[in-house]
Amino acid sequence: MTLKKELNRRILLVDDEPKILEELKKVLAPNEIVGQKLKELEGRLFGQSVQTGTAKRTYQIHCCHQGDEAIEAVQQALDNEQPFAVAFLDVRMPPGPDGVWTAEHIRKIDPNVQIVMMTGYSDFDISEIARRVPPEDKLLYVQKPLHSQEIRQFALALTAKWQSDYLLGVQNEHLVEMNKKLTEHDRMKSEFVMTVSHELRTPLTIFKNILSNAMAGVMGKIPLKLQQNLEMADEAIDRLATIIDDFLDVSKLEVGKMKLYPEALCLQQVIYEIVKMIRFVAEKKEIKLDMVLPINYLYIRADYDKIVRVINNLIENAVKYVPEKTGIIIVRAEEADQQVIISVEDNGPGIHGNDKEKVFDKFVQVEKHIGPGKHGTGLGLAICKDLVHLHGGRIWIEDNDNGGAIFKILLSKHTPQETETGETEPAEQIASA
Ligand code: ADP
Repeated sequence: MTLKKELNRRILLVDDEPKILEELKKVLAPNEIVGQKLKELEGRLFGQSVQTGTAKRTYQIHCCHQGDEAIEAVQQALDNEQPFAVAFLDVRMPPGPDGVWTAEHIRKIDPNVQIVMMTGYSDFDISEIARRVPPEDKLLYVQKPLHSQEIRQFALALTAKWQSDYLLGVQNEHLVEMNKKLTEHDRMKSEFVMTVSHELRTPLTIFKNILSNAMAGVMGKIPLKLQQNLEMADEAIDRLATIIDDFLDVSKLEVGKMKLYPEALCLQQVIYEIVKMIRFVAEKKEIKLDMVLPINYLYIRADYDKIVRVINNLIENAVKYVPEKTGIIIVRAEEADQQVIISVEDNGPGIHGNDKEKVFDKFVQVEKHIGPGKHGTGLGLAICKDLVHLHGGRIWIEDNDNGGAIFKILLSKHTPQETETGETEPAEQIASA
């Protein structure tokens, strides 16, 4: 659809009686000076500046006596890219098809034309007409005889409506097009970030290996000062790797390329392994890191790496935000109606009000009370949320009574077949370490 600046004043009149057609035409194309008021109203409706004084107001009228003829005229007008804005149709037009049948066919050809059904009888059920000639907002049903002022006002209002519907259609098309372009740009950006992150990962792994070898003395004994510097470089590489992994994951999630490899997982086992990995970081800060897990094995069907990433992220955050020496973190798993809830609670500064939702958005960081260099990318929780959603679950934050935060994840409980786990015995509680 191209944007046409001029107003559409084309009107189709369909009536079997030539006298009525003549009268309608006289009203709508009188070749007379338009009153100032009408012109001002038009100016406001169409948003155009109007000339004052002597300009003549007239519609372009096309008259037909029978339905078939009218349908042909509508088709022709569309072929010439000069559609009618309004069609006034008589309901009874012997000997040919009636006005409702005609309107039905016109509507099929031109979905935009405003249709006015005129009748002197009430032999048609209005709701039936509305059903046969949708949409309702482009259909009017009026009783004859019509006053000339009524006819003029219908013409004025309906041509204006045609115009605004038309402009709305153009704008919608424009928006759809822009949306498509934006989606495409977004996809290209994500692909680009994915490629760059991937390319950065390889040299980083090489640096990491060289450093590890150097620190392990593979290249000969190194002085203490150098050893300390290498350790700092190693930590920096780890941080960089985390950032790159975050970018890679976010891009994959954005373009829908994050694949899941679900399997039956014992929740106690998974949590135990994660806590074991993080324990030494907690110990460095002299933080208590406890687990409260049910005695019976709880299973979920999930992608091991992705679920570990989520729980690990929550515990790492808690470690980051709780105070040194007095920090307490509790990781729980519990069953709730064929579902499982995993929670990570801490006694840190907590997350307040609207921030409870905002922190799951990309790049949002609300807690400023940690040391420089400790903040990550602000992508961790956004990735957690997407990964949990990919698993059909839910993640949210609650307030802890001690002022801290409780992160909760809800996932479906899984009942594995024997062959899936190789385990049939009841589990023992994994000790809180
Ligand atoms: P970041 O890389 O900044 O840790 P995240 O997406 O993991 O990014 O977290 C987003 C923000 O949520 C953090 O910057 C912090 O403000 C807040 N946050 C996350 N976990 C906690 C927590 N346990 N206690 C208080 N604030 C938290």
